[in-house]
Amino acid sequence: MTVDKGFGSMRTVGEELTKQGVVGVMIVWADNNGIPRSRIVPVGRLESVAERGIGITPLFAVFDSHDGITFEHKGLSTPSGDIRLIPEGDRLVRLAGQPGFAWAPGRQVAADGSAWPYDQRGVLERQVARAEGLGLSFLAGYELEFQLTWPEQGGDKISPVHEGPSYGPARTLAVNGFAEQLLRDLDLNGVGVNQFHGEYGPGQFELSIVPADPVTAADHQLLARQTIHAAARAHDLRASFAPLVEHGQVGNGWHLHTSIARTGVNLLSGGDGAHGMTVDGGAYLAGLLRDLSAVVAITAPSLSSLQRIRPGYWSGAYTFWGVENREASLRLVPSTAFLGTEHANIELKPSDASANPYLALAVVIAAGLAGIEDGLIPPEPVQEDPGTWTEEQRTERGIHPLPRTVDEQLDALLNNQRIRTALGDELADAFRAVRTSDAAWAAEHDVADVIKRHRWLY
Ligand code: GLU
Ligand code: MG
Repeated sequence: MTVDKGFGSMRTVGEELTKQGVVGVMIVWADNNGIPRSRIVPVGRLESVAERGIGITPLFAVFDSHDGITFEHKGLSTPSGDIRLIPEGDRLVRLAGQPGFAWAPGRQVAADGSAWPYDQRGVLERQVARAEGLGLSFLAGYELEFQLTWPEQGGDKISPVHEGPSYGPARTLAVNGFAEQLLRDLDLNGVGVNQFHGEYGPGQFELSIVPADPVTAADHQLLARQTIHAAARAHDLRASFAPLVEHGQVGNGWHLHTSIARTGVNLLSGGDGAHGMTVDGGAYLAGLLRDLSAVVAITAPSLSSLQRIRPGYWSGAYTFWGVENREASLRLVPSTAFLGTEHANIELKPSDASANPYLALAVVIAAGLAGIEDGLIPPEPVQEDPGTWTEEQRTERGIHPLPRTVDEQLDALLNNQRIRTALGDELADAFRAVRTSDAAWAAEHDVADVIKRHRWLY
């Protein structure tokens, strides 16, 4: 349940949690692989930990997807050092699915309490502040696709909980208790839900989270993961958030919806620019499109992401936008008089659970704001699937495949000064080192193995 922060200091919050039976506070952050990492402190230590944090190694910034530590980034090239992990007190919730624990997102700061350049949440806060300086604000919402399986019996095979028709109501029958607990616990944990349904693939489901300001949206995405995992475990199921669970199957997208507003008015609707957008709304979209390859190197960064992103799978494979085009990497969801102006948003399809949710939003905002600052105008939307066109046809319309290898991803990312600036040089280079380490690991494994080894990471 959400904790009433109105009633005083962290000491009182700790006392109240103790009365409720909470024994530990779980402080969670996501690393550069999108993998949640955590520390638990006894609830009696909450007051001091909220003030000074707990010590963790700075090397979490250079952990790769398989818990290897790379020393290839200059700033973090020895095992020495310590930083502080501080729980965000005003985001503390008691976990409905693990009632002995409270949960809070963590902020990483240097040992002297100053800003730590590798703190992903801080990177997003900087972009939000930049937008505020321009009089702009955002709403963001993640859509989480995942696959539910029966517990592994050993071996590599997974057993999806259903093979039934896509989107069929019978899909929830096998997991009725899970579905019920999930919706109840998300509500108790303060994560608003737009929809929940059986999705397209075997055992696949989708949960879409109510939009919020960007930092809250990223916090909620992390909290939703813990809530889904807990509900699954309670019903003897396992949830895979991996971008691709099985070779040749549909993937799990964690599509990212954003809208941008000035003085509370959505710039993606009610305007006389293209497709009902205002001129600045169109520039936001055009900014995203201009930097799409670099953005996607952050929003779908893993080896599993590279396998998920394919034409014809609604995962976004090319650099183009469309109006309600589900094959488009950037899908404009326009408003209508019936739906109201708040409805309009842009969905980024090449986004998944292997993205750090804070960094993903930070680079989306950075690219979009740059589009506004540069007064960009979006090209005409594409309403077809350019994957069915010839390469000449695509080139004629300025449409290119998104990066297909780690080298292409890093090329797009590191050669994009706007996105690098948003990340900061230290974090950008640590991110590079981690991706390079992942690629070296993959060179020793075949594709099916790579996919399998990402199944349970997120
Ligand atoms: N599963 C698809 C993906 O990999 C998305 C399907 C949809 O648009 O809901 O992103
Ligand atoms: Mg979906």
